[in-house]
Amino acid sequence: MKPTTARAARRLAQKSDKSGALTVADLAARVAKAKVKGIDKAVETRGKRILTSFLQTAQNYGMPTKDVVAEMASGQAAWRLGHAVRDEIMKSPPEAVTDAACAQGCAFCCILSGGEGGVITGFEAAQLHKAVDPLAGQPDGRDWHPEACPALDPETRSCRAYDARPMICRSFLSMDAAACESNAAGGAEQGAGLLGSHLDYLVIHALCRQALKGIAQVHTYSMAATAASAVAGDDAQVGLTQARHKPSALDTACRDAVKAAQA
Ligand code: SF4
Ligand code: SF4
Repeated sequence: MKPTTARAARRLAQKSDKSGALTVADLAARVAKAKVKGIDKAVETRGKRILTSFLQTAQNYGMPTKDVVAEMASGQAAWRLGHAVRDEIMKSPPEAVTDAACAQGCAFCCILSGGEGGVITGFEAAQLHKAVDPLAGQPDGRDWHPEACPALDPETRSCRAYDARPMICRSFLSMDAAACESNAAGGAEQGAGLLGSHLDYLVIHALCRQALKGIAQVHTYSMAATAASAVAGDDAQVGLTQARHKPSALDTACRDAVKAAQA
């Protein structure tokens, strides 16, 4: 039987620091109590189990608590764990992956209708800004389509920040490029969606935010605004401040991802 999150947290707590300083065990106890608004208990429990495993590993390897807090707060933890789930999915890829129509130069999904582009973590926003910053002043995706991501190359329609592209770009796929084109123009065609690992990534980040209340701030950012600030030549700190979401954006993204997974 797999250990429950509460049981795993108790085991970690037995190793807690008696000096009163915050420990990884304390973080695990906070994760066990955390709640993500408006999502299924099963989805929340799965996120807790994954995040608690991360904390157990961090403790086993003697990772300093401040580094664990920094990874949880920046979203690097959600990024690592979302990738680990994605790697598992890819070991036996579902039809949505094997039959995906996605190809280089097919970029209808990089048209960010509404100008938002989805929720990204601080870790991803910093990576994206750094990758796009050297391209400041060059023609960008908006020279191809007014709502395209500024990180897109307007000629080749390839991502110019490929290695730094956020999780949402790595999770989105479709078996029908024509449906993507129609949806980018305001349609509601079926066929496109997010890999299941994306839901875990979002829920884990939301759990980190709950668990770190009073310890560290956890923000999310608009992908489109982050890339736009970089091509405008803004300093990263200024750009990320402008691209920062209200706290409700992460809750909404979690709820939307649950609905999409159930559709
Ligand atoms: S998600 Fe759609 S638009 Fe994006 S690469 Fe795949 S088929 Fe093309
Ligand atoms: S970061 Fe790259 S993959 Fe993601 S929307 Fe922008 S251009 Fe497309």
